[in-house]
Amino acid sequence: MPKKAFRIKPPEPEIEVNKPREQSMWQNPWNFSLLYFILMFAFFYFFQASLGEQRQVIPYSQFQEYLNNNQVAECVVSEKKITGTLKIQDEKGRPKLFSTVPLKDDVLVKQLNQHGVKYTVRYDDNWLNNLIFGWILPMLFIFAIWGFISRRLGSMGGNFLNIGKHKARIHASEQTKVTFEDVAGVEEAELELEEVIEFLKNPQYFQRLGGHMPKGVLLVGPPGTGKTLLAKAVAGEAGVPFFSISGSEFIEMFVGVGAARVRDLFDQARKKAPCIIFIDELDAIGRQRGGPLSVGGNDEREQTLNQLLVEIDGFDTSKGVVVLAATNRPEILDKALLRAGRFDRQIVVDKPDLQGREAILKIHTKDLELANDVDLHLIARRTPGLVGADLANVANEAAILAARRRREAVTTKDFEDAIERIIAGPEKKHNSMGKEEKHRVAYHESGHALVAVTVPTGEPVHKVSIIPRGVGALGYTLQLPVKEKFLATKLELLDQVAILLGGRVAEELAFGDVSTGAQNDLERATEIAHKMVCDFGMSDKLGPRTYGKKTVSPFLGSVTTEDRNYSDESAELIDQEIGRIITESHQRVLDILQEKRQSLDLLARTLEEREVLSGDEVEEIITEAVEKKTD
Ligand code: ADP
Ligand code: MG
Ligand code: ZN
Repeated sequence: MPKKAFRIKPPEPEIEVNKPREQSMWQNPWNFSLLYFILMFAFFYFFQASLGEQRQVIPYSQFQEYLNNNQVAECVVSEKKITGTLKIQDEKGRPKLFSTVPLKDDVLVKQLNQHGVKYTVRYDDNWLNNLIFGWILPMLFIFAIWGFISRRLGSMGGNFLNIGKHKARIHASEQTKVTFEDVAGVEEAELELEEVIEFLKNPQYFQRLGGHMPKGVLLVGPPGTGKTLLAKAVAGEAGVPFFSISGSEFIEMFVGVGAARVRDLFDQARKKAPCIIFIDELDAIGRQRGGPLSVGGNDEREQTLNQLLVEIDGFDTSKGVVVLAATNRPEILDKALLRAGRFDRQIVVDKPDLQGREAILKIHTKDLELANDVDLHLIARRTPGLVGADLANVANEAAILAARRRREAVTTKDFEDAIERIIAGPEKKHNSMGKEEKHRVAYHESGHALVAVTVPTGEPVHKVSIIPRGVGALGYTLQLPVKEKFLATKLELLDQVAILLGGRVAEELAFGDVSTGAQNDLERATEIAHKMVCDFGMSDKLGPRTYGKKTVSPFLGSVTTEDRNYSDESAELIDQEIGRIITESHQRVLDILQEKRQSLDLLARTLEEREVLSGDEVEEIITEAVEKKTD
């Protein structure tokens, strides 16, 4: 058993922290126990009352008779009822109980005294009765119906009783505890935000020095790089309230609600100045108005956006309100938002480099018990392209694996497995691949690996595996760059195409037939070839120019729109050139693999046996095969 429990962090709540959920009475346990209590109370009351009814109800004349016969032991007299016990006993030997309805009888007291009956008088003003039947039960009933209705409406999309009054939704979290200590790898952004912090700490002083504060600061960068985190850290560092809302929250089913919310948000913020208003996922409202991407429901969004512009223009920075916003799609934002006096300052929060990744890992492993062999620098090297959120995930996943393996500390192995899980998806527990298919996948992956170690600019092979992972990956070859790259040369791109084709060509050679397994490889190879021709000007025939006017999302890498700006002849040439790159690469790979057939066979056989090979093992097998050949 591990002595030390690992601290496993639950996934960080997004900015939801600041968004109190409107609770219906059914979600609040307090309401529930109160209801329960009242019901129990009512139940006992009825129970008691019904016990009372078990008394024998007798006519008043009968009561008079008992009285005159000296048979009444004691009684309680009230306006509407006389109850009491008789001196007669019932079958079980207990005194008989009775109740009767009295007349207006002036001589009753006299009679009672005469016969020595012990009597009490009670007024019928039953406050308990009144309370329960007059107030509590009807109110409960109303609450129940109201709860039911609002739940129904809630599930229909909007709480219509609250239109335009969403004050409850936006809360100043008094203090975010996040500081720059919790953020790493984005030093430049931190540096730029330093000024905002200074300003928030002391707006008057800042202004006296002639400082001019921008109203809006836009954080742009790929998802998961820590934009939301940075915004919180700014509030934390400056020690000011943090009002946050996500762009998508503004968009409601009812027209006008979004705009009302914007107004509310700014109203509240103004009262708490200095403070930060943070609008996450700004692109959800800030899209180009009437742009090519707008589909349906535009009125609401445009109204919201207009209101936002009005508010930003209308407030005075000297009060100390700063609007921060974040987006990963700056290219689709409405130009009006980016104009001077609005979000005119943009801060790029980019993917972390090697050092940044190491620093981020340090933050996220500070609560973990690390084994001595763990070198965060090495782990950072193994995770090119991963962003802060991924790295947080890696650390968490490694801790979970270590705990599951009953280790006392998280080891390098745990980190490696965690990285693979994050990059390639979770291993499939049930390997349902048949023998035939396994054979084929082994050849396919060996093909990739062999080409990767052969071509001059191929990045070192780190691992080859034929254990299915994630969605649809039957096997994979993992390469790791020696150092971070920001440019790619034509030769490097051609080598990449060759590595991608390696799997398909290995299948051709070994089976004389191809499978569907290469689809993704072919797609990627074609895309590289297409970019070489159309975007990078790497085709001699078409020359150093670009074809097609594209709007590419700089952080997501996806093309959002494309205008064709070339002739039909050029289109034909482009097709030809892409085709030529692929065919020539195919021939090149065929030559490589034919020449190294022994290596390919041995690699595939070993891979099929062991299912996973490390980079070193791959090298060994290849040298072994070469030696055999020369024997
Ligand atoms: P974004 O808003 O850019 O999509 P988030 O700020 O929501 O990314 O990041 C999600 C989580 O990932 C953070 O809560 C934090 O745990 C981790 N994270 C992301 N970037 C960093 C970073 N630069 N330094 C430390 N942790 C980070
Ligand atoms: Mg975010
Ligand atoms: Zn492949």
